[in-house]
Amino acid sequence: MSIRIKFLGGVRTVTGSSHLVTSDSARVLLDSGLFQGHREEFYRLNTSFSYNPRQVDALVISHAHVDHCGNLPSLIKKGMRCKIYSTHATKDLCRLMLEDSGKIQEEDIRYLNKINKRLGLPLRKPLYTKNEASRAGRRRFQTLSYGHRCPAAKNVFVTLLDAGHILGSALVVLDVKDQDKQLRIGYAVDLGRKNLPMLNDPVIPKGLDYLIIESTYGGREHAPIEEAKIKLRDAINRTVERRGKIVIPAFTLERTQEVIYVLNQLSKEKAIPIIPVFVDSPLATEITEVFKYHQAYMNDKTQNEIVTGNGPFELLNLRFIRDQVESKKLNADKRPMIIIAGSGMCESGRVLHHLKNTIEDSRNTVLVVGYMAKDTLGRRIVERDRFVPIFGIEHELNAEVVIINAFSGHADKHDLFEFISGCLPLKRIFLVHGDEEQTWILFNRLFNLGFNVYMPHRDEEVELV
Ligand SMILES: [Zn+2]
Repeated sequence: MSIRIKFLGGVRTVTGSSHLVTSDSARVLLDSGLFQGHREEFYRLNTSFSYNPRQVDALVISHAHVDHCGNLPSLIKKGMRCKIYSTHATKDLCRLMLEDSGKIQEEDIRYLNKINKRLGLPLRKPLYTKNEASRAGRRRFQTLSYGHRCPAAKNVFVTLLDAGHILGSALVVLDVKDQDKQLRIGYAVDLGRKNLPMLNDPVIPKGLDYLIIESTYGGREHAPIEEAKIKLRDAINRTVERRGKIVIPAFTLERTQEVIYVLNQLSKEKAIPIIPVFVDSPLATEITEVFKYHQAYMNDKTQNEIVTGNGPFELLNLRFIRDQVESKKLNADKRPMIIIAGSGMCESGRVLHHLKNTIEDSRNTVLVVGYMAKDTLGRRIVERDRFVPIFGIEHELNAEVVIINAFSGHADKHDLFEFISGCLPLKRIFLVHGDEEQTWILFNRLFNLGFNVYMPHRDEEVELV
């Protein structure tokens, strides 16, 4: 027998991260990510497994983004019964993210089944419901502190280190022993970057034999995070001068809290006027509560600010909106204001109502703080299409569009290279979690320097020597 890794997902693409490490005595799954994409592909990829979930001895979840944890309820439905290892913050955030994912699927299937019923086609079921997600998010978790080495399966120890990507995110170190060897495998997917608001910098693991690492920005460089603050300040001041509204489509987990953090700083520095800030999302409200509870995962600077009453969520003019009626009231409110709402790529959620009501007026601003994938409304806004469709109706895009890329929570090409250099010597590096173009750039750079680097295919199994 031998120690092997099977690359199940998040390979030559960015969604569906999952990898299976097998030894002669154990099977350990790293992440159980959801593949995201069009409906048919979504159901096909998230329900077909090239291994038996019943035979998994331990699952380690790196962080609470759904492309890393979102298929956990499906695995449990398929009979997986093992312990799930994560940090405490990840466990709490996972439950919220999984429930939200279940709710979105139920809504999608309800809509689809209405059409199918009319057409006489068979009715469909969601991958999992909100209730199934809720059960999956509560059971079987065993939480670990950073740096604690824990026996996870027979002859396998797991250690989580701070990945600096989102609150509670972890780099996973597996120590795996079989009859004739012992190997240390590092899993840095997703890897954060230095100086992100609230977070610690990523920790570099020592003594690795093998490294599995993301390559989302294998060929790109991020602007420094300070630039985000300056651009945010200037956009707010310009819009307030025009008596307009600022709409920020943002992902509910981490990006929303980061934007609040920077707004709080700008407010304290009196660099922006005092205007109302609304976080219009029940999920973002709950996630922010988890952030408040898990302050211990934040960096020392933020923890000190919290102790002295200057915490990131103490912004005086900040209001969280859960209720839909309250959300709709914002349309009639003509004061300059900041509205943060999801979804991040403007494909669904309350942000659509706010865009519909603001996008045609040139006094307003749409502030883009995250990645907008191809074929999304967010991408059309970023590309400044003259007309954009919202709820099936074309709207003229007259609002100012400001794009801030510096908030990214992923390592860029310099960060990746520095991290890999810090992990040396390595027997081999596996590049995953990136569109092929970006992964190839990083591959070529490492290959030309003489590294043993490899880009696996989906469902390929590689023996570790
Ligand atoms: Zn992530």
